[in-house]
Amino acid sequence: MVRNKIVNRINREIILLKNFCKFNKITQTISVSEKESIIVYIYKNSEIEYNIKIEILYDYPFDPPNVSFFNNNNQTILYYDFYKNCSDFYLKYLNIEGHICPCCFNIICNISVCNTLVDIIKDVHIYHNQFKRLREMYFFKKFINCKNNLNNDIINIIIDYL
Ligand SMILES: [Zn+2]
Repeated sequence: MVRNKIVNRINREIILLKNFCKFNKITQTISVSEKESIIVYIYKNSEIEYNIKIEILYDYPFDPPNVSFFNNNNQTILYYDFYKNCSDFYLKYLNIEGHICPCCFNIICNISVCNTLVDIIKDVHIYHNQFKRLREMYFFKKFINCKNNLNNDIINIIIDYL
């Protein structure tokens, strides 16, 4: 009975997720046995340039899902680990205030039962946008250093507006 309610909730959430992701390609596995997790795949699209795998565990929503990126060889990495590792590379070269650490502040680590799959995908978007901005700043700084002899203060002011 309880399980039925949870399965209904998951199905509702997947519908909302499909609406949220609009025209993007989403597939899901059907769980055959009760204990089996349901896996939702969102393929890379205009908003996120990575394939996303959401593994909804048996104890959902009491256990948060595993949300990872996967490549063509089916290798996976948790999305916040991915952004943490990749951001660290750029952060070495940039002095940025207000950078939100993906591994400490992601929604999965602070999950509540009322959070939905859409909330989780929104969280992926937040860290994705933060990472994109970081990457743009890095290449901007690199480019401007090559082109001009602007001093660091001016470069930093420009970076603030990016
Ligand atoms: Zn952290």
